[in-house]
Amino acid sequence: MIIQRVVLNSRPGKNGVPVAENFRLEQSTIADTIQVGQVRVRTLYLSVDPYMRCRMNEDTGSDYLLPWQLSEVADGGGIGVVEESKHDNLAKGDFVTSFTWPWQTVAILDGSLLQKLVPQLVNGRLSYFLGAAGITGLTALLGIREKGHVAAGANQTMVVSGAAGACGSLAGQIGRLEGCSRVVGIAGTDEKCSILVQEMGFDAAINYKKGNVAEQLRELCPGGVDVYFDNVGGDISDTVISQMNQNSHIILCGQISQYNKDVPYPPPLPPDIEKIQKERNITRERFLVLNYMDKQEASVLQLCQWIQEGKLKVRETTVEGLANIGAAFQSMMSGGNIGKQIVSVSK
Ligand code: NAP
Repeated sequence: MIIQRVVLNSRPGKNGVPVAENFRLEQSTIADTIQVGQVRVRTLYLSVDPYMRCRMNEDTGSDYLLPWQLSEVADGGGIGVVEESKHDNLAKGDFVTSFTWPWQTVAILDGSLLQKLVPQLVNGRLSYFLGAAGITGLTALLGIREKGHVAAGANQTMVVSGAAGACGSLAGQIGRLEGCSRVVGIAGTDEKCSILVQEMGFDAAINYKKGNVAEQLRELCPGGVDVYFDNVGGDISDTVISQMNQNSHIILCGQISQYNKDVPYPPPLPPDIEKIQKERNITRERFLVLNYMDKQEASVLQLCQWIQEGKLKVRETTVEGLANIGAAFQSMMSGGNIGKQIVSVSK
């Protein structure tokens, strides 16, 4: 059977900015028949995520991420529909997902590595299982629960960087649902800031590309910052940490501003900021959602319930067509997305 697939065409280099041309669409073939235990699936949605930047390097810098190989098919979070099954628990028409879905239109996969999806849990919005009801939602929820020390009634102020992105837009809303009394986002455009406040219930948002972030933060967080959900690292984080309270907490979710640089993860703080962190006893522990997969099932149900109740507002930026996945990745890495960046493969 002839299929389309996307392979890694070139590496951007550890200090390079990834571009669409780092990926290549090509025709390939898969077997016409499947073996016992396998399923043939048609891809519906693929996810592009910041961690994939590390997979573009020869050495990903972490033991849980394998590098993509040149001229080999790329993979990541994906959703598809079963077209043929020789696996006992899966039938034609089932919707399934995997963290290691190949970037191709049709694939033969091992049925035991797939999770069956229940579309009703997300009001039929299947792609949410890659975002708000998937790893992104889990990252926001478990990051806050495991590292945020949020307590209802404690009058805490939360600041979220990368706030209009996939994790950030959920993290601010979940911070509120979990008990924070004030939530302030930091994002890269006025449109994003307006969506955060008008649609997602943030109290305020700062466009970090305009004006003085430190001054705006001081005005918007008069009682200081108690919880910082950090998606970006770098200068923005240094500014936020400078305004954090004694015994406050950083949720070290990601450091996207550093991903095109050859630095260790997590990148060390500048000495003056590290001094503040130590003197004020601010926690900054590494957080990796994959370490909490024992809480996956219950947490996904919680996220789905909030989605169904309309308590969690979800935004997606969808790009159509497998051919455009490289462009979608490039765009997401430079702030082109609002909410979760999804690639729809069905058309
Ligand atoms: P995302 O926020 O949807 O996309 C990245 C966003 O980051 C962009 O839209 C952009 O928006 C912002 N950004 C890009 N470069 C920036 C820079 N130099 N300075 C400031 N902001 C920048 O991605 P996501 O999926 O939600 O991931 C967010 C973070 O969570 C990433 O760091 C990712 O690695 C991390 N993550 C961690 C875990 C974990 O287990 N710890 C799991 C999943 C994701 P602007 O317009 O605001 O610049």
